Amino acid sequence: MDSLLIAIDGPSGSGKSTTARLLAERHGLAYLDTGAMYRAATAGVLAEGIADDAVAAYVAGADLVIDTSADGNRLTINGRDVTAEIREPRISAAVSRVATNLDVRRTLTDRMRSIIDEHRRRIVVEGRDITTVVAPDADVRVLLVADPAARVARREAELAGKADRAAVTDQVLRRDRDDSTVSNFTDAAEGVVVIDSTFILPDEVVARIEELLPAV
Ligand code: C5P
Repeated sequence: MDSLLIAIDGPSGSGKSTTARLLAERHGLAYLDTGAMYRAATAGVLAEGIADDAVAAYVAGADLVIDTSADGNRLTINGRDVTAEIREPRISAAVSRVATNLDVRRTLTDRMRSIIDEHRRRIVVEGRDITTVVAPDADVRVLLVADPAARVARREAELAGKADRAAVTDQVLRRDRDDSTVSNFTDAAEGVVVIDSTFILPDEVVARIEELLPAV
Protein backbone atom coordinates (compact mmCIF):
# COMPACT_ATOMS: atom_id res chain seq x y z
CA MET A 1 0.00 0.00 0.00
CA ASP A 2 1.10 3.57 -0.64
CA SER A 3 2.59 5.54 2.18
CA LEU A 4 0.33 7.99 3.98
CA LEU A 5 2.35 9.89 6.53
CA ILE A 6 0.37 12.64 8.25
CA ALA A 7 2.36 15.02 10.47
CA ILE A 8 0.51 17.23 12.96
CA ASP A 9 2.19 19.81 15.18
CA GLY A 10 0.76 22.26 17.64
CA PRO A 11 0.85 23.60 21.20
CA SER A 12 -0.79 21.84 24.13
CA GLY A 13 -4.57 21.86 24.07
CA SER A 14 -4.77 22.50 20.32
CA GLY A 15 -6.56 19.16 19.80
CA LYS A 16 -3.69 17.23 18.19
CA SER A 17 -4.29 13.90 19.91
CA THR A 18 -8.04 13.75 19.28
CA THR A 19 -7.55 14.73 15.64
CA ALA A 20 -4.66 12.33 15.07
CA ARG A 21 -6.48 9.36 16.61
CA LEU A 22 -9.63 10.01 14.58
CA LEU A 23 -7.63 10.22 11.36
CA ALA A 24 -5.73 7.03 12.16
CA GLU A 25 -8.95 5.15 12.94
CA ARG A 26 -10.75 6.33 9.82
CA HIS A 27 -7.90 5.63 7.43
CA GLY A 28 -6.48 2.43 8.95
CA LEU A 29 -3.22 4.09 9.93
CA ALA A 30 -0.95 3.65 12.93
CA TYR A 31 -0.77 6.52 15.43
CA LEU A 32 2.27 7.91 17.22
CA ASP A 33 1.98 10.34 20.14
CA THR A 34 5.53 11.73 20.34
CA GLY A 35 4.67 13.84 23.40
CA ALA A 36 3.99 10.58 25.22
CA MET A 37 7.55 9.47 24.41
CA TYR A 38 8.99 12.64 26.02
CA ARG A 39 6.62 12.14 28.95
CA ALA A 40 7.72 8.49 29.40
CA ALA A 41 11.38 9.53 29.34
CA THR A 42 10.56 12.11 32.02
CA ALA A 43 8.72 9.53 34.14
CA GLY A 44 11.80 7.29 33.98
CA VAL A 45 14.17 10.15 34.85
CA LEU A 46 12.10 11.13 37.90
CA ALA A 47 11.48 7.56 39.11
CA GLU A 48 15.12 6.56 38.79
CA GLY A 49 16.47 9.83 40.20
CA ILE A 50 18.66 10.59 37.15
CA ALA A 51 20.87 13.69 37.53
CA ASP A 52 20.56 16.43 34.86
CA ASP A 53 23.98 15.65 33.36
CA ALA A 54 23.08 11.96 33.02
CA VAL A 55 19.66 12.40 31.41
CA ALA A 56 20.82 12.09 27.78
CA ALA A 57 22.72 8.85 28.43
CA TYR A 58 19.79 7.46 30.39
CA VAL A 59 17.31 8.12 27.56
CA ALA A 60 19.74 6.74 24.95
CA GLY A 61 19.98 3.49 26.89
CA ALA A 62 16.33 3.23 27.91
CA ASP A 63 14.00 0.60 26.49
CA LEU A 64 10.94 2.64 25.51
CA VAL A 65 8.00 0.71 24.08
CA ILE A 66 4.94 2.56 22.79
CA ASP A 67 1.64 1.21 21.49
CA THR A 68 0.99 2.67 18.05
CA SER A 69 -2.57 1.49 17.50
CA ALA A 70 -5.21 4.20 16.97
CA ASP A 71 -7.15 3.20 20.07
CA GLY A 72 -4.21 2.28 22.32
CA ASN A 73 -1.89 4.29 24.50
CA ARG A 74 0.12 1.77 26.53
CA LEU A 75 3.68 2.80 27.18
CA THR A 76 6.56 1.21 29.10
CA ILE A 77 10.04 2.39 29.95
CA ASN A 78 12.57 -0.23 31.02
CA GLY A 79 9.68 -2.64 31.45
CA ARG A 80 7.66 -0.37 33.77
CA ASP A 81 4.16 0.59 32.62
CA VAL A 82 3.87 4.40 32.80
CA THR A 83 0.65 4.79 30.78
CA ALA A 84 -1.31 6.50 33.56
CA GLU A 85 1.64 8.16 35.28
CA ILE A 86 2.68 10.23 32.24
CA ARG A 87 -0.59 12.20 32.41
CA GLU A 88 0.02 13.34 36.01
CA PRO A 89 0.55 17.10 36.49
CA ARG A 90 4.04 16.49 37.98
CA ILE A 91 5.13 14.96 34.66
CA SER A 92 3.61 17.86 32.67
CA ALA A 93 5.50 20.23 34.96
CA ALA A 94 8.87 18.50 34.41
CA VAL A 95 8.72 17.32 30.79
CA SER A 96 10.09 20.47 29.14
CA ARG A 97 13.31 20.09 31.14
CA VAL A 98 13.92 16.72 29.50
CA ALA A 99 12.57 17.77 26.09
CA THR A 100 14.87 20.81 25.84
CA ASN A 101 17.93 18.56 26.10
CA LEU A 102 19.18 18.43 22.49
CA ASP A 103 20.83 15.01 22.90
CA VAL A 104 17.56 13.59 24.21
CA ARG A 105 15.80 15.09 21.17
CA ARG A 106 18.26 13.43 18.79
CA THR A 107 17.72 10.04 20.44
CA LEU A 108 13.94 10.26 20.45
CA THR A 109 13.82 11.70 16.90
CA ASP A 110 15.77 8.64 15.66
CA ARG A 111 13.36 6.35 17.53
CA MET A 112 10.34 8.16 15.99
CA ARG A 113 11.79 7.77 12.50
CA SER A 114 12.33 4.03 13.09
CA ILE A 115 8.72 3.66 14.22
CA ILE A 116 7.54 5.52 11.09
CA ASP A 117 9.60 3.15 8.91
CA GLU A 118 8.38 0.06 10.81
CA HIS A 119 4.86 1.07 9.74
CA ARG A 120 6.00 1.64 6.15
CA ARG A 121 5.06 5.29 6.54
CA ARG A 122 1.35 4.57 7.03
CA ILE A 123 0.99 6.52 10.25
CA VAL A 124 -0.27 9.74 11.84
CA VAL A 125 2.42 11.38 13.96
CA GLU A 126 1.70 14.29 16.30
CA GLY A 127 4.01 16.52 18.31
CA ARG A 128 5.88 19.83 18.20
CA ASP A 129 8.53 19.28 15.53
CA ILE A 130 7.10 16.57 13.28
CA THR A 131 6.43 18.83 10.27
CA THR A 132 9.81 20.50 10.62
CA VAL A 133 12.38 18.03 12.00
CA VAL A 134 11.09 14.46 12.41
CA ALA A 135 9.26 14.11 9.08
CA PRO A 136 9.43 17.30 6.98
CA ASP A 137 8.83 15.05 3.94
CA ALA A 138 5.42 13.85 5.24
CA ASP A 139 2.58 13.52 2.72
CA VAL A 140 0.40 15.95 4.72
CA ARG A 141 1.76 18.56 7.16
CA VAL A 142 -0.55 20.45 9.49
CA LEU A 143 -0.04 23.00 12.24
CA LEU A 144 -3.01 22.98 14.58
CA VAL A 145 -3.48 26.17 16.60
CA ALA A 146 -6.10 27.55 19.01
CA ASP A 147 -6.47 30.61 21.21
CA PRO A 148 -4.64 30.28 24.57
CA ALA A 149 -7.89 30.64 26.56
CA ALA A 150 -9.49 27.78 24.62
CA ARG A 151 -6.44 25.59 25.14
CA VAL A 152 -6.34 26.23 28.89
CA ALA A 153 -10.08 25.50 29.14
CA ARG A 154 -9.69 22.19 27.26
CA ARG A 155 -6.87 21.01 29.51
CA GLU A 156 -8.86 22.06 32.58
CA ALA A 157 -11.81 19.95 31.39
CA GLU A 158 -9.51 16.98 30.72
CA LEU A 159 -8.02 17.16 34.18
CA ALA A 160 -11.50 17.37 35.72
CA GLY A 161 -10.59 19.11 38.96
CA LYS A 162 -7.25 17.32 39.47
CA ALA A 163 -5.39 20.62 39.04
CA ASP A 164 -6.41 24.21 39.72
CA ARG A 165 -6.45 26.93 37.06
CA ALA A 166 -3.00 28.27 38.02
CA ALA A 167 -1.48 24.80 37.64
CA VAL A 168 -3.25 24.22 34.32
CA THR A 169 -2.17 27.63 33.01
CA ASP A 170 1.41 26.75 33.98
CA GLN A 171 1.12 23.40 32.23
CA VAL A 172 -0.17 24.95 29.03
CA LEU A 173 1.35 28.42 28.64
CA ARG A 174 4.64 28.17 30.53
CA ARG A 175 5.27 24.76 28.93
CA ASP A 176 4.67 26.20 25.44
CA ARG A 177 7.13 28.99 26.22
CA ASP A 178 9.81 26.55 27.40
CA ASP A 179 9.17 24.10 24.56
CA SER A 180 9.37 26.84 21.95
CA THR A 181 13.02 27.44 22.83
CA VAL A 182 13.85 24.22 20.93
CA SER A 183 11.10 23.88 18.35
CA ASN A 184 8.96 26.36 16.48
CA PHE A 185 5.34 25.26 16.62
CA THR A 186 3.73 28.68 16.43
CA ASP A 187 4.68 29.65 12.86
CA ALA A 188 4.04 27.24 10.02
CA ALA A 189 7.06 26.23 7.96
CA GLU A 190 6.72 26.42 4.17
CA GLY A 191 4.18 23.90 2.89
CA VAL A 192 2.56 23.42 6.30
CA VAL A 193 -1.19 24.10 6.44
CA VAL A 194 -2.47 25.99 9.50
CA ILE A 195 -5.84 24.98 10.98
CA ASP A 196 -7.32 27.00 13.83
CA SER A 197 -9.45 24.76 16.07
CA THR A 198 -10.66 27.49 18.45
CA PHE A 199 -14.21 27.50 17.16
CA ILE A 200 -14.52 24.15 15.39
CA LEU A 201 -15.12 20.61 16.64
CA PRO A 202 -12.67 17.72 16.13
CA ASP A 203 -14.76 16.21 13.31
CA GLU A 204 -14.49 19.46 11.36
CA VAL A 205 -10.71 19.59 11.93
CA VAL A 206 -10.48 16.01 10.62
CA ALA A 207 -12.62 16.90 7.58
CA ARG A 208 -10.31 19.80 6.74
CA ILE A 209 -7.25 17.54 6.95
CA GLU A 210 -8.99 14.91 4.81
CA GLU A 211 -9.31 17.53 2.08
CA LEU A 212 -5.50 17.63 2.01
CA LEU A 213 -4.98 13.88 1.58
CA PRO A 214 -3.51 12.79 -1.74
CA ALA A 215 -6.11 11.29 -4.09
CA VAL A 216 -6.02 7.48 -4.21
O1 C5P B 1 1.89 16.73 23.48
P1 C5P B 1 2.23 16.66 24.95
O2 C5P B 1 1.67 17.79 25.75
O3 C5P B 1 1.92 15.34 25.57
O4 C5P B 1 3.82 16.80 24.97
C1 C5P B 1 4.56 16.72 26.15
C2 C5P B 1 5.87 17.44 26.01
O5 C5P B 1 6.75 16.72 25.14
C3 C5P B 1 5.83 18.85 25.44
O6 C5P B 1 5.54 19.80 26.44
C4 C5P B 1 7.24 19.02 24.89
O7 C5P B 1 8.12 19.38 25.93
C5 C5P B 1 7.60 17.62 24.46
N1 C5P B 1 7.49 17.38 23.02
C6 C5P B 1 8.51 17.80 22.20
N2 C5P B 1 8.51 17.49 20.88
C7 C5P B 1 7.50 16.75 20.36
C8 C5P B 1 6.42 16.33 21.19
C9 C5P B 1 6.44 16.69 22.51
O8 C5P B 1 9.43 18.47 22.68
N3 C5P B 1 7.54 16.41 19.07
